[in-house]
Amino acid sequence: MHELKQVMKDAGLVGDGGAGFPSYAKLAEGADTLLINGSECEPLLYTDYILMKREMPMILAGIQSVIWSLGIKRALFCIKEHTAERLSLSDGDTLGSHINVKVMPNVYPIGDEVSLIYQATGRIIRPGNLPISKGILVYNVETMYNLGKAVKFFEPVTMKWLTVGGDVKEPLVVRVPIGISVADLFERLGVEVDSEHVVIDGGPSMGKIINHNIAEVGKTTKALLVLPKSSQAVTMKQLNKTTAVTRAETACCQCTRCTDMCPRHLLGYPLEPHKMVRTAKGAAVAMPNMVLSATLCCGCGICETLACSQGISPKAVINNYKELLAKNKLRYVADSDVTVSAEREYRMVPSEKWAQDLGVKRFDRVARWGGELRDFDRVELALGKYIGTPSTPSVKDGMIVQVGDIVASASAGLSVPQHASLHGRVTVTDKKIIIDRVV
Ligand code: SF4
Ligand code: SF4
Repeated sequence: MHELKQVMKDAGLVGDGGAGFPSYAKLAEGADTLLINGSECEPLLYTDYILMKREMPMILAGIQSVIWSLGIKRALFCIKEHTAERLSLSDGDTLGSHINVKVMPNVYPIGDEVSLIYQATGRIIRPGNLPISKGILVYNVETMYNLGKAVKFFEPVTMKWLTVGGDVKEPLVVRVPIGISVADLFERLGVEVDSEHVVIDGGPSMGKIINHNIAEVGKTTKALLVLPKSSQAVTMKQLNKTTAVTRAETACCQCTRCTDMCPRHLLGYPLEPHKMVRTAKGAAVAMPNMVLSATLCCGCGICETLACSQGISPKAVINNYKELLAKNKLRYVADSDVTVSAEREYRMVPSEKWAQDLGVKRFDRVARWGGELRDFDRVELALGKYIGTPSTPSVKDGMIVQVGDIVASASAGLSVPQHASLHGRVTVTDKKIIIDRVV
């Protein structure tokens, strides 16, 4: 196991969506089940689908290395029904030794780790605990692809698969060097963004609005979506924190619908968004554990987009608490099991309905493979765009580097190295390493 951990670390593997947790730190003894998350539950995202369609042998090589290294008994390749259909796969199909397909329902947010684990294995992770506590490891398909490359060819992570979609002429999945500017990529693909649109890094529900004129593609960029400012997905993201809390204080009728629909609550987690909204009013129910339960929220947005008819965002109120709790290093950790609600099965949100409620259904077309694009003049590599300690520059201004060279070493603690994604001349700044192409 230690050898594989070192391979993952040396190759600079971090989770390929979300916050970017270093992959080596997840690898632990005691797992009997490996789940490969290919469920891609956000609308408009086709990155994992195209990756699976084109590179299944490399993904399977990565999975096998984890199986052999840890003596894992079974690996479940989790994909949604519509992806299984497109890939001509069925539930239970064998993809390799100990590796079987697990078909998940077309519901949102089935890619959330806790939901995925329950749906695939029937095991429930105690609130605030890690999957390994129930003998489970979860990796994204792209992480397994990157691991396959590292194990077979000693290739570090220098490229990123991502969907360019939304209100564009044709949605595409491309593979590009990490660190290229979003503006350069859009220019290459002929994507235009007018004043009525914004760009989101990630999915329409959980992604973040970025300034596409200055942002770059990072290791966690799964998608770049151009969406109208008028769509529900964008208006909820633009809601300012103070407005969100004030609206919650004045408009909530305590109907409890947000709690009834919350997927984490339905899994038995003690998360009750309607009570969190009540605490925004300063009500006496603000018990410490209840506030702590904010850390159990997966950020899916169902409470604000689908459940609440008063235009309130329980998610924004909860995010407020999350920030405060993170600053104070506090989180909810349960020491006993929870029971899944009998209502869960009937309250799961169909993917199509979710896309409709977000106002993005009309942009949902299956993306086409747009190719591998390498020919860029500059990359800017952020030193700490993942969970952990930022890596430490190991190059100096003016040095020439090749693709794959280490330009920043892993620091002490939770950290991974950064590799050059372009052949060129280096400039080192506080937070980035910039490489300009040399010919
Ligand atoms: S759904 Fe809206 S109105 Fe109802 S309890 Fe939740 S925040 Fe309040
Ligand atoms: S965003 Fe809302 S619905 Fe989703 S997990 Fe958090 S509280 Fe529950």
